[in-house]
Amino acid sequence: MLKQRPFLIETLTAIGLIVAPFVLPHLGFAPNTVNRILVWGLFGLGFDILFGFTGLLSFGQSAFYGTGGFVAAYLLTRTGFSNVLGALVIGMIAAAATGYLIGLIALRRTGIYFAMITVAIAEVFFFVEFNPLSDFTGGENGLPGVPTPSFNLGFTTIHFTNGWSLYQFIALCYFIGVIIALRIVRSPVGAILSAIRDNPLRATAVGHNIHGYKLTAFVIAAAYAGFAGGLLGVLQAFMPPDAFTFDTSGQLVMQTAIGGRATLFGPLVGATVWLFLQDFLQSALGLGAAWKLVLGVVFVLLVCFLRGGIIGGLADLYGLVSGKRARKAAETEEAEIETPQQAPPAPMQAKEVEHPAYSGPILKATGLTKRYGGLVANSDIDFSVDQGELRGIIGPNGAGKSTFFKMLTCEVAPTSGQIMFEGRDITGLKVTEVCQLGLTKSYQVNQLFTGLTVRQNLTIAALAELRGKFRLDLFRTLSGVKGLTEQVEHTLALVNLTRRADTPVSELAYGEKRRLEIGLALATSPRLLLLDEPLAGMSPRERVETVKLLKSIARGRTMIIIDHDMDSLFELVERVTVLQEGRVLVSGTPEEIKTNAAVQEAYLGGVHGEIAA
Ligand code: ADP
Repeated sequence: MLKQRPFLIETLTAIGLIVAPFVLPHLGFAPNTVNRILVWGLFGLGFDILFGFTGLLSFGQSAFYGTGGFVAAYLLTRTGFSNVLGALVIGMIAAAATGYLIGLIALRRTGIYFAMITVAIAEVFFFVEFNPLSDFTGGENGLPGVPTPSFNLGFTTIHFTNGWSLYQFIALCYFIGVIIALRIVRSPVGAILSAIRDNPLRATAVGHNIHGYKLTAFVIAAAYAGFAGGLLGVLQAFMPPDAFTFDTSGQLVMQTAIGGRATLFGPLVGATVWLFLQDFLQSALGLGAAWKLVLGVVFVLLVCFLRGGIIGGLADLYGLVSGKRARKAAETEEAEIETPQQAPPAPMQAKEVEHPAYSGPILKATGLTKRYGGLVANSDIDFSVDQGELRGIIGPNGAGKSTFFKMLTCEVAPTSGQIMFEGRDITGLKVTEVCQLGLTKSYQVNQLFTGLTVRQNLTIAALAELRGKFRLDLFRTLSGVKGLTEQVEHTLALVNLTRRADTPVSELAYGEKRRLEIGLALATSPRLLLLDEPLAGMSPRERVETVKLLKSIARGRTMIIIDHDMDSLFELVERVTVLQEGRVLVSGTPEEIKTNAAVQEAYLGGVHGEIAA
């Protein structure tokens, strides 16, 4: 995520755009090349939000670039519509609307299938442009005669004709594009997009409607593409049919990879390298079509040696020079020997109850069964937990504990049975909805947002609680979300990670990652918290620390904990339910469970044999 120093990037961009016409000619850049770079840069701003920030690799952006371009060019050349800016905006809206419809289809799949669908859709658009719609688009001739913009100010008219004069108009459009893109990536929506890129499963589980946010990113990218497509026609005084080709989409992806993804300026830098090399190798060195060979080698070298592209490489270099890494390593060591915090903060307020009159058990499962083919993972489980209770669940490996939790949080649907949460039937709801109602879990295997810092991780979870599952506050800053800072700071203190708040997850020690895993669940302010093996993989010292942490967060909260560490679990909980072969073997107080003959038998006969006597 970009650093949030107010207006620094905006100011530097403005300065860069103002000085460019004075500096770039000395470096051999023709004004037309600079204008083309800016159009690619603008096209790439939206694409980077989609690919770099959200992690959705689309090879179909040419469809929207072409749509916006041809709608604008058609209006300006065939209908007598003379307002260039108006036509560009209409083209942008048409592209965004198309993006919405295409997104509804393409986003049904993820990964390579999503990418393949976008390729196919772009090919369909290319075909339609050349054949059924050729009367409107000019087919292979394109649409010539696209006018340049002029603005009547009353006392004078400003014309942006070509070269550096047109540069002023395109640079202004690019600058506005940058300001909007920066607002978006710094907004709550921008934060959630990065979370989706890093771990869509967890983004869903903490309560975000990720499909809605992915669709938003898709539409934003289409809108930028549409506007840039229109500008291409203006720049060339002609809307070329090749805007719709796969080459256009491929070139955008490569330019973004060369420049650096998730930087917003990567596509601009990539386009500069691309177009400069093209001009330089073709004209100056007279390589003709062979220039692509050189470009290919440059691309492979850059992608192999600079994984974050040119901007990512420069950022790494800056990190090395400023000794940031050394400092961070020292912090890690320091944190590993960090003593547990002295006084745990007061328990965090849980989400408000929807129907306060309800006074029965907070959770009641009846006849819960889960079959995987012939295998019965859970069979006819009746289970009830009271408000404020601390319940432990034990059972040998394969007893069905994790499956039971997955059904309670609606990650998997039961084959039969019913789950009531606070008197409400939640069977068949989605995991996002259940989390929004106040029931969530921490995972057995960490599910963190690995590319983000500790604070950013907790921010994502807290945002789901504070904003609901979907909200389009694209232009709000994170600091504008009421209660967010307090909730994040409080959770940081609860899980004893305040000193590590700005550390990337990748640099945390294992015990710290486990605490953050619990913190992610806590930051959604659940009324019922399920913890799936919170002590798994921890050293004895980390266990002691985490048990203390669990005791402190248990105050005022209902929790169900699965763990194999009986001593720690029995110290924590009030009642224990034992599962065996997918069924409830027995429930009782820790003392009753310790002395129960059937439990002794299950454990001594099972893998563990470690039950405390
Ligand atoms: P536990 O958490 O107690 O170790 P699990 O709930 O993970 O037990 O698994 C219970 C049984 O269900 C195991 O036999 C496991 O192999 C099976 N199982 C769990 N998940 C799946 C799945 N997605 N597909 C098929 N079988 C599964």
